Amino acid sequence: MTSVTYDNIGELVTNDPTQGGESFLGLLHDAAVVVEDGVIAWIGEAGGASATDERVDLEGRCVLPSFVDSHTHLVFDGDRAEEFAARMAGEPYAAGGIRTTVAATRAASVEALLASATKRLEEARRQGTGLVEIKSGYGLDVATEVKMLQVARQLTDETTFLGAHVVPTEFADDHRGYVDLVTGEMLDACAPYAKWIDVFVEDGAFDAEAAREILLAGEAKGLGLRVHANQLRPGPGVQLACELGAASADHCTHLSDADITALAEAGTVATLVPGADFSTRSPVYPDGRRLWDAGATVALATDCNPGTSYTTSMPFVIALAVRECHLTPGEAVWAATAGAARSLRRDDVGHLAVDATAALTVVDAPSHLHLAYRAAVPLAGPL
Ligand SMILES: [Zn+2]
Repeated sequence: MTSVTYDNIGELVTNDPTQGGESFLGLLHDAAVVVEDGVIAWIGEAGGASATDERVDLEGRCVLPSFVDSHTHLVFDGDRAEEFAARMAGEPYAAGGIRTTVAATRAASVEALLASATKRLEEARRQGTGLVEIKSGYGLDVATEVKMLQVARQLTDETTFLGAHVVPTEFADDHRGYVDLVTGEMLDACAPYAKWIDVFVEDGAFDAEAAREILLAGEAKGLGLRVHANQLRPGPGVQLACELGAASADHCTHLSDADITALAEAGTVATLVPGADFSTRSPVYPDGRRLWDAGATVALATDCNPGTSYTTSMPFVIALAVRECHLTPGEAVWAATAGAARSLRRDDVGHLAVDATAALTVVDAPSHLHLAYRAAVPLAGPL
């Protein structure tokens, strides 16, 4: 057994309201953490730990649970920088741009996909992310969807089958045929490599009826449910996610009062991905303030993908969520850690307590406030 004491932590964010006196963040000041074989063994006052094999002096820095990035499309080939530039020059975003990445990803080898996704994962880790979810959805045929999930499985346990991302070109005149493929042969082939199933519910992608059929087929195969919901306009995605007891409804940019009430009552996590709203120059951002105040569980994620949010930076997402979604800096940090862990139904990460996984992120600053306050400064990294 190896043991390490992380000592002289200026501010420790535990996300455990029973620790510390400051609400949901469970803030401790002048703290120390003892880690034994990757698990937290003790939390207490600085200088108070028994002797361990190693001692690291944090010199007053802030430590928090590693970020949980609960919505990414990290496995893909090609980029869409030209499309981004065109959008910034005034062209609107449409869901069909996904097909550009599909062509590149179908043509890519397993080795190439694994190499580029690993590089992106390392990029995320350097910025303090400890756990990522990764979706398929750039194959849209059986072989490539399986290929993507096999690559994703090498990088995380949190893999999501997103065969229902858009309808591929070859099924443009046969949506029914594609739904049959997704719920049949493709699901059978992909389910062994997936924990979750997801559907993009949107004009130009899948309507509520098709999405329900696809999600229920996945659930029958033992997969948990996630939904890309209400990204580009109001729609039925959030209500469907809540009705089916999905773990998470993601995007939530365009919500009605009834949608917010449904999220709060169903316990379906509202996962906000403001990096996508930023990168598509959305005229509106998700209203994190109203969601939080209504009692919904809010998560933050990067939605890292080559078309609409090519960032791996959770600190950037936190800063956007504070500036544009009107979460407080503390709420945004909670959403990027504990909230995102809940969206993956994980209770071993996203908080710091004895027996929790010792996934720790250090911020080179005296408090968590600096993550949003000092936007784009690379303060966060793995401990
Ligand atoms: Zn997405």
